[in-house]
Amino acid sequence: MAESTTVSDALTLVQEGRAALMAGDTYVARQHFRQALEINPEHVDALIGLAGTLRAYREKRDHLLRALSIEPSNAEALAILAQVDARLAAGDVLAPVGVTVREPERALWSPEPPAIERAPAEVDTLYCYKHPSRETGLRCTSCDRPICAECVRPAAVGQLCPECARSRRPVNYQVAASDLIISGAITLVYGFLTSIAAGIVFGMIGFFGLLLAIFLGPTIGELLVRLLERVNRKRGRSVQIVVGLCYGLGASMVVLVLLLMGSLGLGLIVFTIAAVTTAVTRLR
Ligand SMILES: [Zn+2]
Ligand SMILES: [Zn+2]
Repeated sequence: MAESTTVSDALTLVQEGRAALMAGDTYVARQHFRQALEINPEHVDALIGLAGTLRAYREKRDHLLRALSIEPSNAEALAILAQVDARLAAGDVLAPVGVTVREPERALWSPEPPAIERAPAEVDTLYCYKHPSRETGLRCTSCDRPICAECVRPAAVGQLCPECARSRRPVNYQVAASDLIISGAITLVYGFLTSIAAGIVFGMIGFFGLLLAIFLGPTIGELLVRLLERVNRKRGRSVQIVVGLCYGLGASMVVLVLLLMGSLGLGLIVFTIAAVTTAVTRLR
């Protein structure tokens, strides 16, 4: 029973791989064919399918020969092999991007398949895997999927799709919701307490409190960043927003109390802006 399950699993994977290949998603197709071959290394259709997802004619040939060593009379493999051999004889090394040599009909019935497939305008039509209606000439350097100009993320070498870029980001910039909650809670308390202290000090020294606020604000922002670094080393856009909002919230509670007490608290406001700006800038 276990055996029949794996056989049908491999068949399903091959069918899904073929569907993906037809849809032009060689990346997904390749994964499905490889998984099918993990279940059954002798799966002829998976070998033929895998050959269709590869660009190097030599590699295509190796897989097709392997399929034919298992099933020598397989018509599809024979037809595609004839095509591949013709390309190799013509001196081609790589199949054009976006074209998969896997339709025997073309090899058998079309008088001039190479002319059609080599026309660059037809060959290079790729569509962004996130935006299927957008044509593009770009591919992710890591996973090879087509990506449009909006989705492309620059990398040290080549360009990445959003998913590959995310998984390659430094761990400091991979921020979970729990990180945001912790950073936000610490910042809220910190903002509240420092604002109380600052409000009291500035209230005592009057106008010169405003000058002091301009100098003291950035220091308090810097200390917050150091405190957050001790807890987690998270940074990036989402951390900046949470820290900015939470500090502002903690401080505005104190400003509100001062207002209710009849004091404008201008020093505290300046102080808060300076602290928030410093902290947010440092968390970039
Ligand atoms: Zn990618
Ligand atoms: Zn896109």
